[in-house]
Amino acid sequence: MTLADSTPTQIAAAVQAAESAAPTWARSSGAERARLLRGLATALGGARDILVPLADRETGLGAARLSGEIDRTAFQLRGFADLVEGGAAFAHTDDAAVAGAPPVGHPYLQRVRVPLGPVAMFSASNFPFAFSVLGGDTASALAAGCPVVVKAHPGHAELSRAVMALAQKVVAEQGAPAGVLGMVEGAGIEVGVGLVQQPAVAAVAFTGSFRGGRALEQVALQRPRPIPFFGELGSINPVVPLPGALKANGTALAQGLAASIAMGCGQFCTSPGVVVLPTGAEGDAFVATLSQALAAQTPHAMLNAPIRAGFERGVQAWGQHAKLQPLLTERAAADAPPRPFLAQVSAADFIADEHLHEEVFGPAALVVRTRDLAQAAQVLQAIGGSLTVTLWGFEGATEPGAAEVELVRNATQIAGRVLFAGVPTGVAVTQGQQHGGPYPSSTAPASTSVGYAALDRFLRPVALQDPPAWLAQRAGVPV
Ligand code: NAP
Repeated sequence: MTLADSTPTQIAAAVQAAESAAPTWARSSGAERARLLRGLATALGGARDILVPLADRETGLGAARLSGEIDRTAFQLRGFADLVEGGAAFAHTDDAAVAGAPPVGHPYLQRVRVPLGPVAMFSASNFPFAFSVLGGDTASALAAGCPVVVKAHPGHAELSRAVMALAQKVVAEQGAPAGVLGMVEGAGIEVGVGLVQQPAVAAVAFTGSFRGGRALEQVALQRPRPIPFFGELGSINPVVPLPGALKANGTALAQGLAASIAMGCGQFCTSPGVVVLPTGAEGDAFVATLSQALAAQTPHAMLNAPIRAGFERGVQAWGQHAKLQPLLTERAAADAPPRPFLAQVSAADFIADEHLHEEVFGPAALVVRTRDLAQAAQVLQAIGGSLTVTLWGFEGATEPGAAEVELVRNATQIAGRVLFAGVPTGVAVTQGQQHGGPYPSSTAPASTSVGYAALDRFLRPVALQDPPAWLAQRAGVPV
């Protein structure tokens, strides 16, 4: 089912409703926000039997994965409920007056945070629950005290409507302001552009492709009053095993990596897209095991025809690249699930061609061969920004050599999350999580879109100087 385009009038009405709800929702207590978030979680879980088949029909992701995604989404809503009930959105700093001349002397200052206002939220196609209508962006914005207008993803149109209908029922039953959650629909850029251009929209939360994110960020910045654009975009997630890891555990690591590349048909923002390996026999053995294990994978169908076409375009370009040595190039019929793709390239050629640093969304990866760790660090520098970097072989209590430490430094320079064990697919929702990273993985690298720190995106600090007692006593709860 495709979405009917929301008309400009409908878009304006959805934003107007959010604007009307904004002052009431901003003043709401932690308990009120938590009640709504928990109600949404319960409603989502309660409709599982209806929502999972619906989502499966539209995305083909399978009942087990989709049911698990409902659990994660409900967990996340409840997590933000606990967070806001515990006062996180109202955290404030009381800075008592100090008598005397400046710079030592100063007035009483109370630093509080106020909700930004209506948030335009763009769902991604590959997480129909967790990065969609009631996903992390919505949960964190509501917890922060901001109404949300969702731009539904056309890849799961019917599901978006069903989830929004049950969410609005919860809003009505709880007597929360009606405009606290709204939605616009349509396959085509006009709807999203029109939403971002609405003067009352105060911020954008976007999860999706690099191209879409860039385009919408420009729209946000070119408004008469530019607004924050929290874009989580694509990523190539390099994996760098140290020679010691190859020697000690190469076979198991290569097999685990193959499964991660093919998991969910490679349709994860954290899917490993680059494997940085040394030249030489141990690197060769790893490549051989990885190729064999990846060839044995049978990815399921992709989300939809445009994403499949994008994958085929990407691997075709790689397949024809003069500097790439193909390792796995089997192609599948257009109506069959895709086959994994793997190719190899020298570090120098990889570094020299920025097109090779772009994400190919699907079960595909490049092996980049390096002469030493210093060149591996240069590969990371060339990538420049990634949601994750995975480093294997750094275990132990003793600080490794300078080249290894430099690699860790480079990894932390370019990634939002640096893993020292496991594979990057799978992002825990917790306080310590960071899902972002320098551009191009995110347009707002100081923030995260997964984990409880995501709340901070939608709160703006205000210093109240010599506030009257009645205002200071609100202790961070906005008026
Ligand atoms: P997408 O094609 O960018 O779509 C996301 C949303 O943006 C859709 O609502 C789409 O609307 C809209 N859009 C796209 N281009 C636009 C433009 N030029 N102007 C206005 N609106 C535009 O992304 P997707 O296919 O759903 O998701 C796959 C991508 O998301 C992958 O690259 C993946 O790595 C990335 N992703 C990132 C994360 C993360 O956390 N960083 C998480 C999941 C996925 P229409 O389709 O209606 O045009």
